[in-house]
Amino acid sequence: MKILVINAGSSSLKFSFFEMKKQQVLADGVIERIGQEGTICKYVKAGCEAVVGKAESNNYRGALNEMVKFLMHEEYGVIASIDEIQAIGHRVVHGGEYVSRPVLIDNKVKGIIKSCFELAPLHNPPNYMGIVACEEIFPNIKQVGVFDTAFHQSIPKHAFLYGLPHDLYEYDGIRRYGFHGTSHRYIARKYAETLHKKKDEVNIISVHLGNGCSMTAVKNGKSIDTSMGFTPLEGLVMGTRCGDIDPAIVFHLMEHKGYSRNEIDKLLNKKSGLLGLAGIETSDMRDILKAIEKGNEKAVAALDVYCYRIKKYVGAYTAVIEGVEALVFTAGIGENVPLVRTKVCEGLRDIGYEIDEGKNSKNEIIISTESSRSKIMVIPTHEDLEIARDTLQVLIDEKLFQ
Ligand code: ADP
Repeated sequence: MKILVINAGSSSLKFSFFEMKKQQVLADGVIERIGQEGTICKYVKAGCEAVVGKAESNNYRGALNEMVKFLMHEEYGVIASIDEIQAIGHRVVHGGEYVSRPVLIDNKVKGIIKSCFELAPLHNPPNYMGIVACEEIFPNIKQVGVFDTAFHQSIPKHAFLYGLPHDLYEYDGIRRYGFHGTSHRYIARKYAETLHKKKDEVNIISVHLGNGCSMTAVKNGKSIDTSMGFTPLEGLVMGTRCGDIDPAIVFHLMEHKGYSRNEIDKLLNKKSGLLGLAGIETSDMRDILKAIEKGNEKAVAALDVYCYRIKKYVGAYTAVIEGVEALVFTAGIGENVPLVRTKVCEGLRDIGYEIDEGKNSKNEIIISTESSRSKIMVIPTHEDLEIARDTLQVLIDEKLFQ
């Protein structure tokens, strides 16, 4: 059984191709700058050097055709015919309140994705176009949608409602949706596998620290709260996003600094976070750490703010879960930066978390001391594999595969 996973973004299309028996990646890649000059395709066959080539793709169809050329290439291809692709799993960002699990894509599901364009204007339209292009190119292959928001549909009302007039929720859908759900769900599942627990007995705080950052409180295997909200701007301080701020700052910037709507959007989404606080050109954590080594005080403050915000959420989620078994770090920064984990866990022994610096510095799986009440762990995330597994499960549930 071979499954293709597609993540169609505004100008790029990422793909991973899995063999499901061993749950292995056979090949993956990305087509970048779709519809612009200088479209390029990067392709990696598992265990081989990356191949980078120019591509001709004005749209997602073109990008998918480039992908097929690579997958079927004489020298570094992994299939002889597209018939070997048995299903396609799509990452879709927003499913609103309509979708709480992975689903087989049909006209109704496509309608749902379209109805959420307004809620995720940068993500849902390209996700949708990727699906339509796949339907055109692979008309006989079943397609499944795996939604970032789905895992968080179990969040109770008291945690998803904002303190705004109720009509704004009822008629305009303004509420906490949460994102990164596929990653948080993968972490909950992997935690259960690693510690031989049942899925519905998982009580953890999942801390996803990549370019975007979010935390989720998982109780009895379900998301009961998460830091991202109506959009992925809320919550933790991120690479370039501000996370939680006083909304009145927006009025102040408009009234006293003459900012337009678009300028505020750019400021909060692209110019803030680690990049804005450190005042350097990049939001890459490796560059922030280098700047700290060189004595850049703003970079020191950026890291302090970043870690302090995570620590505050650890406190909050410890309170709401009541009986946290593990605090789990994941994604680029969570998996690779011991200093961040140290700073987050500083002084948390009384609420149940004590880090073992020897284990932490080696990025071991369990990095807490023997006497720590809750475990502290590092589990690498694998969203694409989760999407491939979900896709297979939907086919089994729909009796399309035995
Ligand atoms: P995305 O959200 O795009 O999937 P990633 O999970 O790849 O992001 O995380 C990107 C972040 O992880 C960047 O800030 C990058 O600097 C950081 N990162 C990745 N690897 C390392 C590493 N070995 N050391 C320090 N930071 C790292």
